[in-house]
Amino acid sequence: STMRCFWVEKSESGEIRAEVTEKPCSVLDQAKSDAPRVRIRVNLSSLNYKDALAATGHPGIVRHFPHIPGIDAVGAVVHSDSSDFSVGEEVLVTGNDLGVGHFGAWAEMIDVPAEWVLPLPKTLSPLEAMTLGTAGFTAAQCVQALIAHEITPDRGSIVVTGATGGVASVSIEILRKLGYSITAVTGKQEHHQALLDRGVDQVVTRSDFIDQTKRPLLGGKYAGGVDTVGGSMLETVLRSTAYRGCVTACGLTGGADLNITVHPFILRGITLCGIDSAMCPLPKRKVIWEKLAGEWKLAGLESLATQVPLEQTPAWVQRILAGGVSGRVVVGL
Ligand code: NAP
Repeated sequence: STMRCFWVEKSESGEIRAEVTEKPCSVLDQAKSDAPRVRIRVNLSSLNYKDALAATGHPGIVRHFPHIPGIDAVGAVVHSDSSDFSVGEEVLVTGNDLGVGHFGAWAEMIDVPAEWVLPLPKTLSPLEAMTLGTAGFTAAQCVQALIAHEITPDRGSIVVTGATGGVASVSIEILRKLGYSITAVTGKQEHHQALLDRGVDQVVTRSDFIDQTKRPLLGGKYAGGVDTVGGSMLETVLRSTAYRGCVTACGLTGGADLNITVHPFILRGITLCGIDSAMCPLPKRKVIWEKLAGEWKLAGLESLATQVPLEQTPAWVQRILAGGVSGRVVVGL
């Protein structure tokens, strides 16, 4: 049998070629190991920034060619070596090595170790689960970190950067639900009103927000931060956070460098909290999905999603790399 998939190859001259094509399902047998495996007919996947890097063969993400991107999947089990899953069951896979060192979910079929698989929570539809995806999972981890550092709504505003992006959009929704006031930083002028309509208290233009002075500390305006951008954005957030605040860092769309002094840490007691979703251990992963499916379940989540068929992903890959996507993109297989 064959499957439609997004196939990324590298020629001998080093040129990357990517196309949506048909491949035999036997390509999935590549990664056979002794661990029990689950084969899943993928129904929906999503587009994360990392998928766009994988789709263009970025050496920081793709270690072997050929490759299939797609770090998120919802689908039905077609075969399971593990008694934990039965044929036909709806399941969820996010992160781990899916779509990175392992063929991913921009394909009609995936074959993964059973320990990567979770039952799809009963309270989430497949579309809701993929509107969240790794972005939503990451957003939940960011909010959980703020709470763990005692950043309660009464302490002041939370600054969310790259505000129209996937991780940031879901972060804003969760923070709103929990009663936080939010300052959104965006490069998209035309989205200011939409952000206000979503309930953020203040919108700041990216170029106005980023501080170019070398001052080690700025006014401590924010109780906390959810930074998805990195670089000079994260530098500004750290320097603008109030006494004993906490800032989560998960992304690098604005750069991987971080040029700051220790002053925010030693004079204001700021915590910089790193967030990783891919390798998050299973017990913690379950807790986060339980939150997303329960206490933190968002109403109207689908309104954040643009649904696109696999055939249209090449254009969306270019769009997200250019910083031009807002909300979440769900990919239909
Ligand atoms: P996304 O949807 O593309 O969102 C990123 C947002 O960043 C954009 O929408 C844009 O927002 C802003 N942005 C883009 N280019 C920029 C630039 N050059 N300078 C400043 N801001 C820029 O991506 P995502 O999927 O949410 O991921 C966000 C980041 O988190 C990525 O770096 C991703 O790799 C990372 N991530 C990490 C983890 C983890 O486990 N650590 C998990 C998920 C994602 P505005 O236009 O509104 O400013």
